[in-house]
Amino acid sequence: MKALTWQSRGKITCETVPDPKIEHGRDVIIKVTACAICGSDLHLMGGFMPTMECGDVLGHETMGEVIEVGKDNAKLKVGDRIVVPFTICCGECRQCKWGNWSCCERTNPNGKLQAETYGYPLAGLFGFSHITGGYAGGQAEYLRVPYADVGPIVVPEGLTDEQVLFLSDIFPTAYQAAEHCDIGPEDTVAIWGCGPVGVLAVKCCYLLGAKRVIAIDSVPERLALAREAGAETIDLSKENVQDTLMEMTKGLGPDSVIEAVGMESHGADTTLQKVTSAIMEHTVSLERPYALNQAILACRPGGNVSMPGVFAGPVGPVALGILMNKGLTLKTGQTHMVRYMKPLLERIQNGDIDPSFIISHRSTNLEEGPALYDLFRDKKDNCTKVVFKPHG
Ligand code: NAD
Ligand code: ZN
Ligand code: ZN
Repeated sequence: MKALTWQSRGKITCETVPDPKIEHGRDVIIKVTACAICGSDLHLMGGFMPTMECGDVLGHETMGEVIEVGKDNAKLKVGDRIVVPFTICCGECRQCKWGNWSCCERTNPNGKLQAETYGYPLAGLFGFSHITGGYAGGQAEYLRVPYADVGPIVVPEGLTDEQVLFLSDIFPTAYQAAEHCDIGPEDTVAIWGCGPVGVLAVKCCYLLGAKRVIAIDSVPERLALAREAGAETIDLSKENVQDTLMEMTKGLGPDSVIEAVGMESHGADTTLQKVTSAIMEHTVSLERPYALNQAILACRPGGNVSMPGVFAGPVGPVALGILMNKGLTLKTGQTHMVRYMKPLLERIQNGDIDPSFIISHRSTNLEEGPALYDLFRDKKDNCTKVVFKPHG
């Protein structure tokens, strides 16, 4: 089958790879009808995540039709149309029972042990490096879905792939990010990053009752999309974010802040020394790369810092002193997908939201994948979200 693969830092290629097979009784195999590129894939592409290996199949926002079912999977049958969450979890361990699905105890954080060591498949993420299970991803014609009796949801008739595809990741991620803000009816939330996660978070903050949402980015088309979603916007390339936010909130600061940028903002060009001196001199808020620190600086005392943005390894320095002294609450993590997929499917069915508005580019040819990755990374041609339909 054809699949998009990670080759080396900055290099994605479309390759012919072996078709996936059932490896465990609870697996299913799907024929991928739609899959997307996520901002997290850009972190992988940029080489920020450790333990990617040449040839690894990318992709963790995927849906499709079940074509084969493992012998122990009583939940799904051939022909079911399913959305696959980007997290793989067992459904049996303490964390899964507590509803902390992305903290499944069957993960393998040091990336060294093999599934055979335990006798069951590892939890982890699709297409996301060997530190998270080393599973092949879904930017491919077919996908093996482990623990397919836990995470995937069957799509009811009458909904298009594009309406439900983002239940696989960014819609629940945006919703969890908004929920982490503990939003009250008078609240103002500021969001750094108007990528797919940030823009959907604008919508989710309103779904959860925010009075006002302010979104920050430097890409004009993305700021325009955030405005369409109902946000007021700040262009960080033209305005001082800190000063503007203080003006907009009468000197109080937003009640909650969301960091929806991730490693792009803390990338390789930030030396520890440079960031430390920026914090010491209180100039950190003026600098483009430090979305998290800007957010911490802007948030009102006692407020919430919600961080869906993905980071790997030690990242620093973070304005921890300000976080502590202002009594802020920091909430983060990979999204507890199973918690949100069904309720958010209902939101889509009710017509409360149609997340497909963020799609800008569609392709039926995975060979176009590398060029579309470049476009999404470089934010060219008004690219806000790429969706592939590998079988047309
Ligand atoms: P994206 O790369 O498309 O969007 C990021 C946006 O941030 C871009 O529009 C960019 O211009 C903007 N930006 C860069 N530096 C900035 C700064 N200093 N201030 C404000 N904006 C800045 O990515 P996305 O798909 O929207 O994802 C956003 C983040 O969410 C990524 O880190 C991704 O890995 C993460 N994510 C997390 C989860 C989770 O489970 N926690 C799931 C999905 C995505
Ligand atoms: Zn993602
Ligand atoms: Zn588990």
